[in-house]
Parts: sequence; structure tokens; C-alpha cells
Amino acid sequence: MKTLHLRASSEEDVALAAALLQSGQLVAIPTETVYGLAARLGDENAIRTIFQVKGRPPDNPLIVHCARIDDISQVATRIPPIAWQLLERFAPGPLTLVLERKEVVPAIISAGLPTVAVRIPALDVTREVIARVGEPVVAPSANRSGRPSPTCVAHVLEDLDGMIAAVLDAGPCTIGIESTVLNLVGDIAIARPGAITAEDLASVLGFPPPLMDVSSHTPIAPGMKYRHYAPSIPVILIESLDALPSVMQNTSVVLSTQPLPETYNWRPLHRATVYDEFRRAERQQRQAIYVLLTPDVRKDVALMNRLQKAAAPSATSDVSHRV
Ligand code: AMP
Ligand code: MG
Repeated sequence: MKTLHLRASSEEDVALAAALLQSGQLVAIPTETVYGLAARLGDENAIRTIFQVKGRPPDNPLIVHCARIDDISQVATRIPPIAWQLLERFAPGPLTLVLERKEVVPAIISAGLPTVAVRIPALDVTREVIARVGEPVVAPSANRSGRPSPTCVAHVLEDLDGMIAAVLDAGPCTIGIESTVLNLVGDIAIARPGAITAEDLASVLGFPPPLMDVSSHTPIAPGMKYRHYAPSIPVILIESLDALPSVMQNTSVVLSTQPLPETYNWRPLHRATVYDEFRRAERQQRQAIYVLLTPDVRKDVALMNRLQKAAAPSATSDVSHRV
């Protein structure tokens, strides 16, 4: 299959992206967070193909993307008033809500869970594609399972070229890490931290929701337990440069928010570019990626979450699920 490279600036290409989705094809679509691999919500075959081409474990559910806030009632039921209040404040944007799933929604998207995760993406062109499809789309990140999420078209093609019908290019993602996932079924808690923080959410909820600890609880979605966001070379988190063996200085790269002396292969550390840096170091065949955990980085809950998952030891049973 030849993967078409479509442009978000071309009306014809946007229409073609929507038509491909309608006809059961997979199309990688831009969003403000990361590129998503979309399929039409009602097309179970296409959704099954998403799991196949990503090598995604079937117990890791997908996020439904809607064009309009009201459309969430097509997939969720018994939506609590707080959900509408949160959406009024944060949608369209990088907030995903976990709600009760409507029975008509294919269970495959939720890995059989009674819940559904849903959001309204911020980019106009993304919502336009969804509106043209005429129903919501499901879209996990458009990478091979376990790998760093794609934040530009080159990343999508690195992982999925020839396996999907098209990719719609809107340039690099501005946020660059995945959405905040907030569970509203049962106890309110953050299942995945993102650009919208607990403090932001407190402005609507009245309290900062706690972060779910996947290691000590049964995760609300089994897929949360897998190692994620990881390049094929080791990611090593360090507290100080003293922890970087001198023999590694030439062969590795060091990500930090502050520039480092020339003896290091320094690259800047930001949410928006962290996955690009992971993939760049991989292409350059560096031996390892060291990440300097300065206090500003430690304070960034969302960035720390991704770094810790990317650095998770690869010799655990979780990794058997990676492809
Ligand atoms: P990705 O699309 O790769 O960003 O992954 C989707 C994320 O949403 C994963 O972390 C899932 O665990 C989470 N997710 C999707 N559906 C649900 C759900 N029904 N309940 C809890 N988390 C979900
Ligand atoms: Mg993903």
C-alpha cells in the first residue's frame, strides 16, 4: 500500500482524508497533542486493523475523537454535569474524559471495559475531517505500540509507511505529548497526566484530582501498565551529570532544559520536542539517551510521567507485549 501524504492546507486533501476514513481506510490525522491513527467509529474491521498495524495489545483501549462537544452523547451515557462543565472550560483541547460507554459503541474500542474515553481535538482541520466523516473517529497515537508518539509526519512514516492509506500533514504538533486522561466513572482521578494539569482541573472541580498510581492499583485500563513512549535505545534518568560515565559522553546524548558544556552532546528538553529527540538519537545510533532531572523537570508531572515510562526497565514482563 502506498501511504498518501496529504496536506491540511489543501481543501481537496482534507476532503480526501475524510473520504478514505468513510470508506474504511486508516488515516493518520494531526492533533495539537500528537498525530493520531484514525478509523471511523462504526467500522469494526478498520478498528481491528488499527490494533494490527500498531501491534497494540487488545487490552489497551482507544480514544474517541468528536467534532463537537455535544457529540460525546453519541458514545457516552449518564454523562454527569461535571463532564459538561469541564468540556465547556477545556474543549476543544487536550482533555480526554473517561465516561460510561453507550452499548451501541463497539466494545473493541474500549477493550471490553464498560467505559469510553472521549475528547474534542483543538485543531480546526482535525474537527473538520471528523465532521466530514459524519461520525466520531477513534484514534490512538499513530506509532507502533510502545514507541515514542509521533509529533510530525516523518515520525508517522517512520513507523507506519506503507501500512496506512494516508497521513494528513499539519506540521509539528504544538503540545507534543498526549492528552490528559481524567476518569469520571467512580472516583475522579487523572489516569494520564498531560498539558491540562490537576491545578487547571481544580478550577472547575473545586479540588485537584489525584494521579492514579498504576503500580499500586488495578489500572482502570489494563493497557496503562505497558512500557510506553520508548525509543529502541536506553533512556536513562539522572539527577546530576556526575552520573554520566565519561566513556559515554561521546556516544550518548544528554537532554536537559539548560545548555551543557561542549563536551556533552546536549539537546534541549521540552515537552513539545521530547519524542523528536528520542527518535533523532535513535536514528543517529547513539548508545543511550541521558535525561537530566533538574527541579523544573521534576515539577512537570506530565513530562516526568513520559520520561519515567520511557525509562522503565525493558526486562519486565510488560515488555513482552511490545512489538
Ligand atoms: P493513546 O491513544 O496511544 O494515547 O492511548 C490512549 C490512552 O487512553 C491510553 O492510555 C488508554 O489507557 C486511555 N484510555 C482509553 N480508553 C480508556 C478507558 N475506557 N478507560 C481508561 N483509559 C482509557
Ligand atoms: Mg499511544
